[in-house]
Amino acid sequence: MAEESLMEKIVSLCKRRGFVYQGSEIYGGFPGTYDYGPYGVELANNIRAAWWRAMVQHENNIVGLDSAIFTNPKVWEASGHVSGFSDPLVECKSCHTRSRADHLLEAVGAFADEKMSIEEINTVFDTHRATITCPVCGKKEFTEVRRFNLLVQSNLGNFTGDWTKEPTYLRGETCQGIYINFKNVLDSARVKIPFGIAQIGKAFRNEIAPRQYIFRLRELTQMEMQMFVRPEDEMRVYEEWRAKRWQYYLDLGFDPKNLKWHEHENLVFYAKAAWDIEYKFPFGFKEMEGVHARGDYDLSQHQKFSGTDLSYFDEATKERFVPHIVETSVGLDRTFLAVMTEFYHEDTMGDDTRVVMRFPAKLAPIKAAVFPLLKNKPELVAKAREVYTMLKKDLRVEWDDNGNVGKRYRRQDEIGTPFCITIDFDTLGENPDLADTVTVRDRDTGEQKRIAIEDLSALLTEAIKA
Ligand code: ATP
Repeated sequence: MAEESLMEKIVSLCKRRGFVYQGSEIYGGFPGTYDYGPYGVELANNIRAAWWRAMVQHENNIVGLDSAIFTNPKVWEASGHVSGFSDPLVECKSCHTRSRADHLLEAVGAFADEKMSIEEINTVFDTHRATITCPVCGKKEFTEVRRFNLLVQSNLGNFTGDWTKEPTYLRGETCQGIYINFKNVLDSARVKIPFGIAQIGKAFRNEIAPRQYIFRLRELTQMEMQMFVRPEDEMRVYEEWRAKRWQYYLDLGFDPKNLKWHEHENLVFYAKAAWDIEYKFPFGFKEMEGVHARGDYDLSQHQKFSGTDLSYFDEATKERFVPHIVETSVGLDRTFLAVMTEFYHEDTMGDDTRVVMRFPAKLAPIKAAVFPLLKNKPELVAKAREVYTMLKKDLRVEWDDNGNVGKRYRRQDEIGTPFCITIDFDTLGENPDLADTVTVRDRDTGEQKRIAIEDLSALLTEAIKA
């Protein structure tokens, strides 16, 4: 399957089956925004739940948080975002398309990143200018590279009429909400260092070129965990988290061939280490998650700007210090796209070619579909309704009585439903040995088994746990 067409197939499936829609589509769209449809929201919720289970529930010393999207604007001064959260921007002189200079350079095999000075980036850009083409019109005429700040500004709480002078910001990353609540959590949650705070939430970035579908959005969701540690433990804890985060993807069912580590070429001055887990998206290996050792920069900055003491007193050693931070940061939307890519399959079953999303049961939007064999036989429909009503108390299941059973299987395969349950005349006792049993068809093998209705819940629950 050509890589290019895999992306097109995923985008089309997502739209056709209600996973992802273009944001504001009826108004012609709104760049950098997408909406999750009925199956998409289920899948996204399951991804969140898997992350939360791994990061909070299964850990002993990580607690959750849900901080506000808006903060005092000083937060973004302290964090360095107001002065430094920028990407290098160039504009095509011919069609005026704005692009990220680092991405254009990457396309011609050169390197620049946001940590380099603008002079350094311009020097690299000038060296390669002759070979760099505009992705839209193909011309080679560009402006100088300049910095473009990614923070999204707002007028929240500002009624002066000129809020641009004192803007408030929609958060550019969720972790700042964690840093500014470090003391609150410490004082209220009976935690001791080392401990972590995890959060899932929206973040906003004025991305210059929001491309590649839900990979690069202006409104995105992040799942971030910050571990607060003693300075001397930072690198050990960092390595532990690198290993855990890698294992997390294997546990989700990812093939390790589609994952790789990428070490940052350039570290910001305060960072000790920064590696990304890259996934093989249809457009190549790209960052899915960052794992960073951030030193004491974040708490020290907030201590300085807020005037609040954010040091930690260790009762055991009688030492006071500013905790160092190990961070894991992943985008929900990028994970979603990786999951769609990883589990998209086409195969043949019987005479049919089918598209099948081989989601692990715990991620599948719908865990089982319940079918009466025929929709015009009231006794079959009534029995199937009973089974459906019983299962839907605990699990996301779907009812389908439309078309022949083969068509119903295909529809469920496309949305990755692991089990299809058919209620037939044997269920009703036509064959007394099979009374109160149903046919359960496995999505991946197509194999069908007869299962007692009373065993269905256990079968599904076990599959979801695996
Ligand atoms: P990139 O280099 O791709 O712009 P980044 O290094 O700026 O990403 P971080 O600031 O480390 O990303 O953010 C942590 C995670 O948040 C990323 O690994 C990614 O999964 C997600 N993320 C960041 N920016 C976006 C975006 N614009 N759209 C969707 N997800 C994003």
